[in-house]
Amino acid sequence: MRSSAEDVLEYLIIKVLAGKDNVVNALSDYFIVGESPSVVALKYGLSKHQVRGYAQRIIEKMGSATKARVLLKYAVPVVIKIKPIVKKLNGAFVKCMVCGEELPIQIIEDHIRKKHAAIVEEYMYSTIELIRRNIAVESR
Ligand SMILES: [Zn+2]
Repeated sequence: MRSSAEDVLEYLIIKVLAGKDNVVNALSDYFIVGESPSVVALKYGLSKHQVRGYAQRIIEKMGSATKARVLLKYAVPVVIKIKPIVKKLNGAFVKCMVCGEELPIQIIEDHIRKKHAAIVEEYMYSTIELIRRNIAVESR
């Protein structure tokens, strides 16, 4: 079975692959910088409600806000460098650059999770490796 931390990592990786890196940056500002949901929402084009919802989901997964903060501190700098695999077509649709399918933006994360699981797995593996390396360097 996978750990909660891996579930959160997968969640963040899929967000970036789906071109929603603003969500990852918002979570980073909320948890690490300590900005309020309204400030973060304004900065990244989200609603306050969305920011709270995303944050709550991660806190529930990790068991506490402190654990969520620690994971994000190490995960965000690595995850944010991943290149999206989708191209925005207009406000409502995106094109998956892996298979060429054009999909509504609401279901793109599901599409990536189901159709491109191998890509997600690969990024999971490399992200965990990089986080391990960064922690090792820090504790030297
Ligand atoms: Zn695809």
